[in-house]
Amino acid sequence: MTAEDKYTTETITEIRTWTPKLFSFRTTRYRGYRFIPGQFARLGVRKQTPEGEKIVWRAYSIVSADYDEYLEFYSIVVPGGEFTSTLADLKVGDEILVDKTNYGMLTTDRFVEGRDLWLLSTGTGLAPFISILHDVSTWEQYENIVLVHGVRHRDELAYAELIEAFKEHEYFGEFAHKLRYVQVVTREEVPGALSGRIPQLLENGELERSTGIRIDPDRARIMICGNPEMVDDTRKFFVDNGYTLSRRGKPGHLAVENLW
Ligand code: NAP
Repeated sequence: MTAEDKYTTETITEIRTWTPKLFSFRTTRYRGYRFIPGQFARLGVRKQTPEGEKIVWRAYSIVSADYDEYLEFYSIVVPGGEFTSTLADLKVGDEILVDKTNYGMLTTDRFVEGRDLWLLSTGTGLAPFISILHDVSTWEQYENIVLVHGVRHRDELAYAELIEAFKEHEYFGEFAHKLRYVQVVTREEVPGALSGRIPQLLENGELERSTGIRIDPDRARIMICGNPEMVDDTRKFFVDNGYTLSRRGKPGHLAVENLW
């Protein structure tokens, strides 16, 4: 297989800046590119080095729906980061490479028989859950969907408007009563938002209290994505309480993805 067979060259069509460090962007999408909501893509940028041009690749969760004609991604600028600092300089019209293979196991088909879907994220770990929420089968399958987004500061609550807009959405509006959207802000006080790290909010029962939903292994299916330490600590909380990780051919309660 040649390199050209492995990836396609796409064009950046839109960039949205949330904060000086956080931005989302859209690209064109190769007609044959397929993915399951919750999966990630591998993106490549060309970089000039003293030894010549090289391509740097990174995994990025896909924000957009599987039926959208574009791909959307949500990114943070890592200071001095080889990939994100190059990415942050890209403009509308610039090219970006997309590996033709999709990756990742953070998909709802890892679960069977759940009734409450808990989507626990911090920072840019929100991305795959936006894609999952645009999949109508998620809404049909579960009685309750709890989306938790933890950030340091209020202005990092990206996609809040879009999430709130599910209530009025042409297709999803009829299911909107199923969704609880929980904002968690840890480094400033924000009315209506919880304060404290996600494992703590699980431990002290605040997440259950604020949503009115008990976390029960017979009903709960849990996806975790974001800061690797948050993912580890949250997974540990559940495993210690008798929940199991979903494995290939052996569905459990938990599906997790480290972001970096
Ligand atoms: P962050 O440190 O990941 O914090 C986001 C939220 O997660 C905050 O509410 C934070 O709470 C909480 N949190 C942090 N550690 C936790 C833990 N062990 N358990 C539970 N909750 C935890 O902040 P960020 O701004 O999204 O990312 C921070 C840095 O990570 C970036 O500046 C970047 O350098 C790096 N990063 C790298 C990549 C990459 O792809 N390489 C991607 C994303 C981020 P507290 O306020 O209490 O800490």
